[in-house]
Amino acid sequence: MAQDQLILALDYGGTKLMAATVGRGARQWLALERSVSPPQHDGDYERKTMHALAHKLLGGARPAAVGISFGGPVDAGGRLVFLSHHIPGWENIPYCDQVEAEFGAPAAMANDGNIGALGEYVFGVGAGCRSLLYITVSTGVGGGWVFDGKIFAGADGMAGEIGHTTVDPRGPLCVCGRHGCVEALACGPKFAEVAQARLRAEPGAGAKLRALAGGDIANVTGQLVAQAAAEGDALATEVLLEAARSLGIGIGTALNLINPERVVVGGGVSKSGPAWWAALRAAARATALPQARVEIVPASLGDDAPLWGAVALAQALLK
Ligand SMILES: [Zn+2]
Repeated sequence: MAQDQLILALDYGGTKLMAATVGRGARQWLALERSVSPPQHDGDYERKTMHALAHKLLGGARPAAVGISFGGPVDAGGRLVFLSHHIPGWENIPYCDQVEAEFGAPAAMANDGNIGALGEYVFGVGAGCRSLLYITVSTGVGGGWVFDGKIFAGADGMAGEIGHTTVDPRGPLCVCGRHGCVEALACGPKFAEVAQARLRAEPGAGAKLRALAGGDIANVTGQLVAQAAAEGDALATEVLLEAARSLGIGIGTALNLINPERVVVGGGVSKSGPAWWAALRAAARATALPQARVEIVPASLGDDAPLWGAVALAQALLK
């Protein structure tokens, strides 16, 4: 492939790294590499591992542009990583400069929520929309929004952080240090904790969930709660739907604030089944003003949304 046509996309997720190459304007990856990070690691390890993946994909070629998705706060200009909430060694790293030096090509970066929004807008279910709010729910809750084809990052790069809007000020502690955020109520690990506490407090309840966890409450994950709910476990259903309602309230608040044309929800927890979706939509509808559109649809790009957003960001550098 001609050098002026090759796009490199990098995605720093919480637990895994992905790098991919694609031809400019194409919709199929040329090649893609993943690496699952060990439990204890730091930013330096991630950067070295990612760059090794990318050089392997490039095979000595120089990309025309590089797009970067980062799973944490990034400055509004997309040049500087402020920090990672999960991995030490990312504090105030001018990462775009480092990538440009490493690969000899212009680079652009955004946080995973914002860039996932751009990915769905350009390559996914956002087609034909003027404004789109994207939310990803897995081990955390990320979000971002796109208006008129561009990421709206806000004055400080913090726009779209629906995961840290407050649902219940007296609610559980969130990773951000505040209480009762959407993330603290709706992400997989948090509602798994709620299920674990209820199983301990109610020895006669949640038989299916206990069985799925192999009899050890500590094994209960968000995914097992969703599976037990799908199999009719009453305790798991209550916990799962309460988490969905919390996210729905957050979405309803966002609808009142920015009134996007479409809301796209992805991430592992969004695969929790039709009851989760129904509870989410009902809570959003009940929270939003009646005139606001409540079009909430599943994401179509799956785990690749941030990578495709990175492609869109890199291609915009070449216009
Ligand atoms: Zn929070």
